[in-house]
Amino acid sequence: MTAHPPFLRHGPDAAAVPLVIDSPHSGEHYPADFDHVPPREIVRHAEDTHVARLYRAATRSGATLIEATFPRAYIDANRNLADLDPSMLAEPWPDPVAPSRKTEQGIGLIWRVARDGTPMYGRALTVAEVRQRIEECYVPYHAAVAAELDALHRAFGAVWHINAHSMPAVGDANADDPGRERADVVLGDRDGTTSAPEFTALVAGFFRGAGYSVAINDPYKGVELVRKHGRPAAGRHSLQIELNRRLYMDEATLAPNAHYAELEAELGRLVAAVGRFVSATIGKTT
Ligand SMILES: [Zn+2]
Repeated sequence: MTAHPPFLRHGPDAAAVPLVIDSPHSGEHYPADFDHVPPREIVRHAEDTHVARLYRAATRSGATLIEATFPRAYIDANRNLADLDPSMLAEPWPDPVAPSRKTEQGIGLIWRVARDGTPMYGRALTVAEVRQRIEECYVPYHAAVAAELDALHRAFGAVWHINAHSMPAVGDANADDPGRERADVVLGDRDGTTSAPEFTALVAGFFRGAGYSVAINDPYKGVELVRKHGRPAAGRHSLQIELNRRLYMDEATLAPNAHYAELEAELGRLVAAVGRFVSATIGKTT
């Protein structure tokens, strides 16, 4: 492992609003002990490459941005800790496991396969090294997101959370919709359970107004981070945003494409619009 910090926090560059954006999958710091078998350029297809950079201007609207620095394929911060495949381990896992469909697909807490379906490791992992990934990457990342949301909720009485991701343009082998063309943007509020409908509608309306196609909860409903933090009845609203990678990069090389700057500017306007919505909503209730 490494002393590399597991996350970066970018605080507001303007008057703070209770809005946190977290990017759990855009980490690009590959630890020395990550002995994946497929070449790095294949393993990197697990990343939501560029997503934290695309939202970097959010702090100018008073939002806080938290980004993971560790790679998603090393440990996936948007999974439950019990979403583990015991068959990957050299010894029994001492805690309860509850493998989900993601683990069946090979993309649970610790990915068993790369995006192209080839095995990630040429060996079984030890309990100690998986524990170390949890303690040095997953736990600090989750603690950082929770601390930010809790502090803003205390200060403002409510908090809004955008869980930021990107998705392949077409469903791949690990997906529930292999071969299907995705919308430009997929919003996930776990079928209306993690956010008030007004927040989802505002974001959907923003993207549609800007000319993007939007799908809601199809094929992505949101996973662990929105599930954990979204409690609309308690004034905690969490929404997952999946951006289609064709909007900003070449999916094979991961290089930004000609539309990158356009999407980056659009996301700056989105966060500004959400900031105004958040301020207006708080103004109504206090
Ligand atoms: Zn993601």
